[in-house]
Amino acid sequence: MTTDASNPLLDFSGLPRFDAILAEHVTPAIDHLLARSRTVVQQLAAPQDDVTWDSFVTPLENATELLGRAWGIVSHLNSVVDTPELRAAYNDNQPKVTEFWTELSQNEALFAKYKALRASDGFASLSPARQRIVDNAIRDFRMGGAELPADKKARFAAIQEEQAAVSTRFSENVLDATNDYKLLVTDEAELAGLPDDVKAAAHAAATKDGKQGWQFSLHFPSYYPILQFADNRALRETVYRANATKASDQGDMFSKKDEWDNTQNIVTLLRLRDEEAKLLGYRNFAEVSLVPKMAQSPEHVIGFLEDLAQRARPFAQQDLDELKQFARDELGIADLQAWDMPYASEKLQERRYAFSAQEVKQYFPEHKVIDGLFRQIRQLFAVEIKPDVAPVWHKDVRFYSIERDGVLIGQFYLDLYARAGKSGGAWMDDARGRRATAHSVQTPVAYLTCNFTEPAVVDGVAQPSLFTHDEVITLFHEFGHGLHHMLTQVDELAVSGIAGVEWDAVELPSQFMENFCWEWDVLEHMTAHARTGEPLPRALFDKMLAAKNFQSGLQTLRQVEFSLLDMHLHYDYDAASGQTVQQLIDRVRARFSLVVPPAFNRFQNAFGHIFSGGYAAGYYSYKWAEVLSADAYAAFEEAKALGPAATTEAGQRYLREILSVGGSRPALESFTAFRGREPSIDALLRHSGMAA
Ligand SMILES: [Zn+2]
Repeated sequence: MTTDASNPLLDFSGLPRFDAILAEHVTPAIDHLLARSRTVVQQLAAPQDDVTWDSFVTPLENATELLGRAWGIVSHLNSVVDTPELRAAYNDNQPKVTEFWTELSQNEALFAKYKALRASDGFASLSPARQRIVDNAIRDFRMGGAELPADKKARFAAIQEEQAAVSTRFSENVLDATNDYKLLVTDEAELAGLPDDVKAAAHAAATKDGKQGWQFSLHFPSYYPILQFADNRALRETVYRANATKASDQGDMFSKKDEWDNTQNIVTLLRLRDEEAKLLGYRNFAEVSLVPKMAQSPEHVIGFLEDLAQRARPFAQQDLDELKQFARDELGIADLQAWDMPYASEKLQERRYAFSAQEVKQYFPEHKVIDGLFRQIRQLFAVEIKPDVAPVWHKDVRFYSIERDGVLIGQFYLDLYARAGKSGGAWMDDARGRRATAHSVQTPVAYLTCNFTEPAVVDGVAQPSLFTHDEVITLFHEFGHGLHHMLTQVDELAVSGIAGVEWDAVELPSQFMENFCWEWDVLEHMTAHARTGEPLPRALFDKMLAAKNFQSGLQTLRQVEFSLLDMHLHYDYDAASGQTVQQLIDRVRARFSLVVPPAFNRFQNAFGHIFSGGYAAGYYSYKWAEVLSADAYAAFEEAKALGPAATTEAGQRYLREILSVGGSRPALESFTAFRGREPSIDALLRHSGMAA
């Protein structure tokens, strides 16, 4: 079916041919697939009497799926084995691919076809999954302005363009202000309390600039250790002030570079978003943001956040009282300020829970962790995970199959270690999604990528890689996403696995899996000391558990405050009324915050999540998904108390109602089907040590 059978990137007969794909294959393959997709789109855009699933959606999916898969392989390689040739090929083709998807999302003839299909007699006989795909497509066209009259459409496009430009300027200002700041310390005595590695990095930064001493910047790994560890209070205050006034009309930087001030950019963005919302027929941008999400309305989200704030507040007050008392009695700080909080908290935490991450790490050798993870998955979902063989992009990459009753249901690549040319962080991505055709079922394939430390080689012998507890949690988290993708039973590509799952519900399966890393009977089987082979001691586990919820009241309240600020800015901020953004922020804080930052604080001027990162009226999703995952996990805690049969049943129910159905129905419906009721906040409070 390809024009060039020798191009391995165009071979879709099986798994990606990572042993054969080269940078030189990228452009011809992508050009071919783009041309082919465009031809199909053109044919489908032609007038047609009777629009059906088979005559319209299937051919469109067939064409675009192959482009998506090939480009997915290129993007994946670009992230995990970056070479100059591959990067050049990626950068050359990326604009072409983006342009195609943008064209598709604005193609009015396709929009009309979806609407015709929706109105046709045949619609009622489509499966619920197919109906949902059609509805999602119509929704996305509508939210992209496809239904507006010509004059408004032009304005809508102009608003999009201006928003993109202002967002870019916002993040550039933050970056420039961050990069510009340099604090040089020449007297080592001023750095008392800082860990050696932090000092060494600061010394290297100074040397690089041809200076004597220690140089700090506003990049997190550089400035935050000062707030956390520096005994020197004046130094902490200097750094806190610089960071809290970044890209604003406050502080020293403003007088130097007032074009970095984001104050007006925030107002412009809020105004543009409000205008966009009104063009689309909504009252405010918060409503627009929530259309494709699980949360029903801004009022619903605000109610959820206010409830959480109210419940966390007594615990936050207790955290704060303890901290103040400790700072006064033990640190001689009578008036605890914003720049003392991380420092005093660190000292209090050290005092209470003295254990090191290094000590814990000795108990988590790689093979025990991977075995423990697979064992957990097997127990929960009655599947087998077996080593398998496939072409890979690096010798360290492993490949596995998942089977149920001897039948293949999914496969995954596991790429665990950090190395040069591999992007940082951990993620799950799909190599292909589940899709059933008349003749066969295409099983899902996932990439699971982490950046853990590779095994050290001592005297020519590879030592087992040891994971920190945080790394173990990361691994479980990404496997949660992976299982969502691989255990799906949905036949339709656009809503199988994680496809089509609401944005504020997509972290449910991932965070759900994290909970097992805090279970004693799981850790018991998943740990063995690197030297002695002993499992994790119970006393050490208890300390880890206690430290997990350290200051959870204060932290919860802080996240809720950010979420409420985000929501209100997109819900009831009215630039025309003369109210400033700062006044709105002060009003929200007066109601909900325990720790009110100093008057000069302009954290919002660097709040990239909502002004340049796609989280506008969506920051609440972090807490929202935590509620869902904690509540789902609580079902397993309840089952455990009833015995093994109940646990098995809970696993099957979770698989059936949540993992299997993917995006084929609303997340709230799936959750309710699993839990027998709507989500409750109680489990999250209990897991965070904030039970009433
Ligand atoms: Zn995640």
